[in-house]
Amino acid sequence: MLEIRLWGHNLMRIFLKTCFFSSFIAFSAIGATVVDVAIIGSGCGGLGAANITAEFGYNTLVFSGPYRGGDLNVDTVVGNWLGIKTTKGDKIIPIVEKNATKFGAKIIDAEIASVDFSKSPLQLIDRSGAVYQAKKIVIATGTKDRLVQANIPNPKGRIYYNWDVHSDLSKFKDQVAGKDVSIIGGGVDAMKKSFYAIRSRAEKVNIYTRSNRMRTPSWRTSLISRMPNAHIYYNYPLKKIEGNGQKLRLHFENGESKETDIAIISVGRVPNTSLFKNKLKIDSKGFIVVDAKTQKTSLPHVFACGDVTDASGPQPQAMIAAGNGMIAGFSVVEELLKEGVAPQNNLSMRIFF
Ligand SMILES: Cc1cc2nc3c(=O)[nH]c(=O)nc-3n(C[C@H](O)[C@H](O)[C@H](O)COP(=O)(O)OP(=O)(O)OC[C@H]3O[C@@H](n4cnc5c(N)ncnc54)[C@H](O)[C@@H]3O)c2cc1C
Repeated sequence: MLEIRLWGHNLMRIFLKTCFFSSFIAFSAIGATVVDVAIIGSGCGGLGAANITAEFGYNTLVFSGPYRGGDLNVDTVVGNWLGIKTTKGDKIIPIVEKNATKFGAKIIDAEIASVDFSKSPLQLIDRSGAVYQAKKIVIATGTKDRLVQANIPNPKGRIYYNWDVHSDLSKFKDQVAGKDVSIIGGGVDAMKKSFYAIRSRAEKVNIYTRSNRMRTPSWRTSLISRMPNAHIYYNYPLKKIEGNGQKLRLHFENGESKETDIAIISVGRVPNTSLFKNKLKIDSKGFIVVDAKTQKTSLPHVFACGDVTDASGPQPQAMIAAGNGMIAGFSVVEELLKEGVAPQNNLSMRIFF
């Protein structure tokens, strides 16, 4: 009875009718099995969607992409995941993954290289050339660090992006100790990296921001300003970085250049939407436009959730991604039920009886 109240009377009625009166396995014209739902991306958004579609018994594939578990699956302290004490992101993600797979969602370690949304069923091809077909697709490809122009033969350990810092935080701390460190960026992430560098005993910490102010709460800025070995340079938009022996040379739009040992780039994130360009509606910043109540994109049968969408908000957060992933999951289930597609996994009945 609890579930009937939760999911609504109508959804329940269609669900039971569909279970008993339609076939359980579908095949495409080319003979391949057609999955009910393919989810591109295995971060909080993708796993949130998979949790729901699999719970309802729909055959669900999650493509992990280059970063299984997504952005949170790194050495970063997360204090705002409800129900779990402050811990590292890579301790949270395995739990989220387990919840998504317990009803039968399958995670495939593959990166999608192309999509064809004009076909029915919808088609995806991974980097190895394997073809997958799906009735519904959820895009949850997240974002990546915005890159800067750098002509350096061996940038590893000398140029860090946000994600690199968190992928091996203890190594990062060892590497900045005693060094001249330059942070590029004026936001909260740039500020956090400055504190990491100071706490890791960097000899000097220079923060270069492109405007005449930091985009962080003033208490953070004044904390940094009081550090004897830290300095904020305003109106220093970075043009490019060049390698000069063991040193880096930072060139700025204002014509100046500075030498440093390590550069940390924190100039924002861009959505992973190149696969979907000219295929569905994308806003001027590259985010997929969705209806925030349903996570539907401009194309039928295609949904999107998490940081890759224009609904992720000004401060993308893991639980927001997971939450609108769940909305996408419910919308998929509702559409499949209305289309008379039966759940293929009997485990789904557990949630009703
Ligand atoms: C360093 C760092 C610290 C953070 N700390 C916090 C925090 O403390 N609290 C908090 O709430 N949020 C935090 N966030 C934000 C949070 O991680 C994101 O909001 C959340 O991960 C977004 O989830 P997502 O599923 O939308 O995208 P992501 O987590 O970015 O996942 C995207 C997924 O898409 C996959 N993918 C991409 N391209 C393809 C492709 N072609 N084919 C298949 N798969 C593909 C990737 O492999 C990845 O699995 C942090 C982010 C970072 C970078």
